[in-house]
Amino acid sequence: MLYQSTRGGTPADGPEAVLRGIAPDGGLYVDASLGKRPFPWDEVLCLPPLSMAARIMGHLLPDFGGMDELLRNAWPERFDSPVITPLASAGDFRILELFHGPTCAFKDVALSVLPLLMTKARAGRGEAGQTLILTATSGDTGKAALEGFRDVDGTGIVVFFPDGGVSPVQRMQMVTQAGENVRVCAVSGNFDDCQSGVKKAFAALNESGEPARRGMVLSSANSINIGRLAPQTVYYFLAYRQLMDRDEITPGDPVDFVVPTGNFGDILAGYQAKLMGLPVGHLVCASNANRVLTDFFAAGIYDRRREFLRTASPSMDILISSNLERLLYLASDGAEAFVSACMNALVREGSYTVPEEIMARIREDFAAGCCSEEECARTIGKTWRECGYLADPHTAVALKVTDEWKASGRAAKAVVTLSTASPFKFPAAVLAAVGGEARGSEFDQMRALSALSGLPVPPSLSGLSGKAVRFKDVIAPEKIGDYVHEIIRKGGV
Ligand SMILES: *Cc1c(COP(=O)(O)O)cnc(C)c1O
Repeated sequence: MLYQSTRGGTPADGPEAVLRGIAPDGGLYVDASLGKRPFPWDEVLCLPPLSMAARIMGHLLPDFGGMDELLRNAWPERFDSPVITPLASAGDFRILELFHGPTCAFKDVALSVLPLLMTKARAGRGEAGQTLILTATSGDTGKAALEGFRDVDGTGIVVFFPDGGVSPVQRMQMVTQAGENVRVCAVSGNFDDCQSGVKKAFAALNESGEPARRGMVLSSANSINIGRLAPQTVYYFLAYRQLMDRDEITPGDPVDFVVPTGNFGDILAGYQAKLMGLPVGHLVCASNANRVLTDFFAAGIYDRRREFLRTASPSMDILISSNLERLLYLASDGAEAFVSACMNALVREGSYTVPEEIMARIREDFAAGCCSEEECARTIGKTWRECGYLADPHTAVALKVTDEWKASGRAAKAVVTLSTASPFKFPAAVLAAVGGEARGSEFDQMRALSALSGLPVPPSLSGLSGKAVRFKDVIAPEKIGDYVHEIIRKGGV
């Protein structure tokens, strides 16, 4: 099957799209036939979780066979719930917990699958040698990618993070990472320095031909890869099924989903579920104080020319939401010239405007809201006191938007709020919001939060404090290329 580039370049089949990540013209790969090919969503909902997942993945990535086996290798061992993403009830809230994987954040769902897809893609194309993943991270993605790629045959991974720019727990999660094929390196600079350093290294190394001569392919694990979107589509079905099992809906009833959003990948996966037939009402985009998407859905103008705010929900601190490009493409029936013009304007002028006719179509499926820092803290406190549920700051942003969405009178009877991280990943902010005192190290704060809530600290986090540091390299951003070159010269990580 062929995936179109949102900017009109040459289409790619599934394996090529997964290995490339981004199209050569800078566009994102989209399955324009989604929603036109029939999918028996109602039958699939009756299957056990992993079989359901395999059918959904098989529909989104038909060029890859053997999804049952692939998912059995990806999820059951790494997730501490048999349904992978359990649905919690807290007062009137229905909360889909996406954080039961190895790093306690939702990126685990997709990053435990992507490496296996890449290996399969290369094997199918008869390619030997190593796929070397280069990733710059502001925290969560790096660790989830390390866990996903660790000891996967035929792959190696190098993660760069800004020295002093991630939380102490996030740093410990990365520098203590196990695995024979992993490398972690701090960069003296901020996240942007890291990211542009990696991009430059990528281009220069590919230009030099060195990776190819050593039988290697450079790749990345970023959130625009179709191999990351597909696994995320699965949990919208898993949520729907859990509501059915509890007799809260009957098959066919619409369900709204409120999604804590940054790069727009998670919520776009929900749109894919809707296109496949799942009865989704509205997808509600929840933003923190960086409300560029809220403003976009209101006015049809995407404008990144504003101050970048650091919030308690850092994974949603974003001014350029890459995956929105896919929605523009789908909502305009594949108007690639229009999409290219928008993306060029975003680079050149910092903004673009979408015609009202296309916005009207988008608003049939999407709504949006945002949450200030103060409201976020208040929501964590209130949800704890009134519902006995401890929410992390990203989830709290979505809970506040859920309340507003229900009060608007436009909501479906059933509304599911997505929860993207464990509260123990952000102990200081959560403690402060529930009336505790955030003292000592983050590990002390986790224990304090555990004592206060009666919930255990997830073992993957509590076990970190005693682990040996494996990676101590710190380099300047302009040395990233040399650093990777040295790894390639030695034949891999
Ligand atoms: C990445 C992330 C998000 C945002 O997801 P997108 O797919 O980028 O919109 C929200 N919450 C947490 C905890 C994350 O790690």
